[in-house]
Amino acid sequence: MDSESPAGEIAPMPHPDVLEKLVSLAKRRGFIFQSSEIYGGTGSVWDYGPLGVELKNNVKARWWNAMVRQRDDVEGLDAAILMHPKVWEASGHVAGFSDPLIDCKACKARFRADKLGDMPCPRKPSKHPGEHSDCQLTEPRQFNLMFKTFMGPVEDSASVVYLRPETAQGIFVNFLNVQQATRQKVPFGIAQIGKAFRNEITPGNFTFRTREFEQMEMQFFVEPGTDMEWFEKWKAARLEWHQSLGIDADRLQFHQHDEKELAHYARAAFDIEFDFGGSLGFQEIEGVHNRSDFDLSQHQQASGKRLEYIDQAANKKYLPYVIETSVGADRVTLAVLVNAYREEAVEGEEEGRTVMRLHPALAPITAGVFPLTKKDGQPEMADRIAADLRKRFPVFRDEAGAIGRRYRRQDEAGTPFGITIDPDSTKNDDVTIRFRDDMQQIRVASARAGDVIARYLESDVPTAVSEHATAG
Ligand code: ATP
Repeated sequence: MDSESPAGEIAPMPHPDVLEKLVSLAKRRGFIFQSSEIYGGTGSVWDYGPLGVELKNNVKARWWNAMVRQRDDVEGLDAAILMHPKVWEASGHVAGFSDPLIDCKACKARFRADKLGDMPCPRKPSKHPGEHSDCQLTEPRQFNLMFKTFMGPVEDSASVVYLRPETAQGIFVNFLNVQQATRQKVPFGIAQIGKAFRNEITPGNFTFRTREFEQMEMQFFVEPGTDMEWFEKWKAARLEWHQSLGIDADRLQFHQHDEKELAHYARAAFDIEFDFGGSLGFQEIEGVHNRSDFDLSQHQQASGKRLEYIDQAANKKYLPYVIETSVGADRVTLAVLVNAYREEAVEGEEEGRTVMRLHPALAPITAGVFPLTKKDGQPEMADRIAADLRKRFPVFRDEAGAIGRRYRRQDEAGTPFGITIDPDSTKNDDVTIRFRDDMQQIRVASARAGDVIARYLESDVPTAVSEHATAG
């Protein structure tokens, strides 16, 4: 129910907390499983199942397409996870990539000192750590978040290497390699997608904060003085990209870093936040940062190699400033799932349905193909149609159980279209296409089904509702 403000205006209804239900749907349908579940699970690490890997791949492909393929001023890169340990000294991670850790001597739990207000006290969940009479919190101490390991057979301090805590450094150290190989001129960017690892103190909220995750980062190198102009352009472009995934505009907002949050070298920073609903509310899914020439100058100094860009036309050389856009593939995939989750009443049915209203182009399965019965040539026709459609997009053929149940399973998987073959289909060579979002059906010649669906995928309309007239 909408609540009323004193002025009599209707306040928007807060988004419900769906995370717990989503965790169970994700397991049931094969989006996401707990890592090493049969051993009791690994602390905050998750595995993507058959539907999850397709969904996350679709998110990553859309990012790569928007950031690299559709632009002639951004190049792709895939740098290694293991890097020279000096990279992390120069970048400041060895000295400063840490969070303030607090222990509670009473309940033995650990918290991030700067996130106490977001955490429940394990003994009294209605209170925060430190608020319960039994709490015995220690003073905060700095805890470095990088995972350390050893390279080669000798485990001594000379062979320490780190699992990268961000992908960005692989881009900075390759700045001149990429620039010279591609003959790009500043302004230009380098983008990559890859795993990152952080030994987070308080991971949680499903895949929101994990210890192993994937980042999609782009560093855009610009001439100093033009940096704020580029910063604004990238801020706008990145917000638009999130909307293009079908994420509701009212669930997205910018959060500007104030002086306390801003790194000492940063000239400006904004987070793009998504409203995850419930008590989690708005949280960062992407950071857009103006990093000045901090990273390149640190690496230039530490490596002793000149990293300046030579602008031959203007006859000058300089260290470019960097505008960075950094988004978590897992976190944005979680945002997409939360945004899509709906429980709906269905007219004439007691049970209602759970439906994932995923953008058709992101959905792991584009179309379900359902022969109504297992006889009269229907399974054969379904095979033919499925084989034909599979050349264009992912298809799931299902003849098990009542048709209503089959639709419900695909609703939970977020499959936007259902193609049903009934007794008339084999006579007239036509099928019905059922639309996930409004459950309406249209009848089309079976040879046209692929084209009708393809039109939805090509348009950026998040849902298929109300488009039927033009589709048929
Ligand atoms: P937070 O304040 O949430 O710890 P951050 O500001 O440290 O995040 P960045 O270093 O800017 O995050 O990383 C960029 C993006 O990488 C984040 O916006 C988020 O989407 C993703 N990310 C960072 N840490 C994690 C994590 N532990 N698990 C999943 N995604 C993460």
